[in-house]
Amino acid sequence: MSRSNSEARASRQSPVLHEEDSSQSMYQLIRKLYPICRSLTGDGVRETLRILQEYIPLAIQSVPTGTAVFDWSIPKEWNIRDAYIKNSAGEKIVDFQKSNLHVLNYSLPVRQKISLAELKTHLFTLPEQPEWIPYRTSYYNENWGFCLSHNQLMALTDDEYEVCIDSSLRDGELTYGEYFLSGETDGEVLVSTHICHPSLANDNLSGIALAVFLARALAAEPRTYSYRFLFTPGTIGSIAWLSCNEARVGQIKHGLILACVGDRGKITYKRSRRANAEIDRAVIQVLKDDGAPHQVLDFSPYGYDERQFCSPGFNLPVGCFMRTPHGKFPEYHTSADDLEFIDLRSLADSFSKCRSILDVVENNATYVNQNPKCEPQLGKRGLYGTVGGLAEGRQQELALLWVLNLSDGSHNLLDIAEKSALAFAAIKKAAADLLKHGLLKPVI
Ligand code: ZN
Repeated sequence: MSRSNSEARASRQSPVLHEEDSSQSMYQLIRKLYPICRSLTGDGVRETLRILQEYIPLAIQSVPTGTAVFDWSIPKEWNIRDAYIKNSAGEKIVDFQKSNLHVLNYSLPVRQKISLAELKTHLFTLPEQPEWIPYRTSYYNENWGFCLSHNQLMALTDDEYEVCIDSSLRDGELTYGEYFLSGETDGEVLVSTHICHPSLANDNLSGIALAVFLARALAAEPRTYSYRFLFTPGTIGSIAWLSCNEARVGQIKHGLILACVGDRGKITYKRSRRANAEIDRAVIQVLKDDGAPHQVLDFSPYGYDERQFCSPGFNLPVGCFMRTPHGKFPEYHTSADDLEFIDLRSLADSFSKCRSILDVVENNATYVNQNPKCEPQLGKRGLYGTVGGLAEGRQQELALLWVLNLSDGSHNLLDIAEKSALAFAAIKKAAADLLKHGLLKPVI
């Protein structure tokens, strides 16, 4: 990094967290995307990406069916227009137009009359939550089925039913979105989220909305790092991206997978496979500085697309930022993960935390003290006792002493924040003040 970059970093202000009313804007995007029937592939994903292009200049990429991507192959493209179950009186008792969760995602087309007993072998319900429709998929086993509330199932009588799934499963393509924002350096920060779930608000849409508004905020300010935002269908999408971009992977210096960021639960951070990468430490510093309840989980090879980015052949410094993890809230993968399940304050908090995390990695520079023999006299430079409130002033003075003492060229600002147990913001401000007075020099 050049000296001027470091100086620019040190004088950069903390992110402005209210550049637009982020939670309202994110929620409006979630509302717009909610009705669309998405899947691994197909028109729902394309429509979603087209809507995202209204917000950020996303490049839409496609990979043809049958393309080998590592040990996988891009599946056939699935599209659906309609689906229903009618009773013998011709009444629609299950209707895809009312909820796209009613169809087993990736169902083969079907149109036939069948008995109740046979129909039941194709139905999925949640007996423990009898009013909710489950979300089920059958991506890699060709099948058809319907998902419905358990109460709907219980109401079915011995009758002959007409089932119709007007879908297609044909050669086509897998589609994903990519937005690259160049910065002062080639090192990249990856932000990735999955886009394959239909009408589910927290698991899927909250992550998409957060990524979009992070991208917009970052685009409006100077950046040390370059940023790559990926909007890919889960698993196969990140595998396809990694397969098509293997040569670029070395540029990824930090990464976050975003998922389930709009529920009322506390923040959960799942560490990268490296466990103590700079991104892991940056997230933990921000959560500690904030002081709100949170949890940090060790890496495990189950979850979202960190599974692929952290597979041993890549082992990238990519963690997963969530509120309540997948499978740990009752509404997960059901019709109850709806627009009402999203909490605007949580969305705003997730946005603000991600901004702070990226602010840490952007500003985590290393400096050398230019007056290392005994402490420099800070008072005569106006650096001592000038900060407002007593407690805040004391913390800022401590931060100056810590930064001076540990700026020996081998500790970066995050190291100093960790060792001093002071907030990163205080350490960053101290470094900026000392730099201004010529007491620090950035390590180039
Ligand atoms: Zn999911």
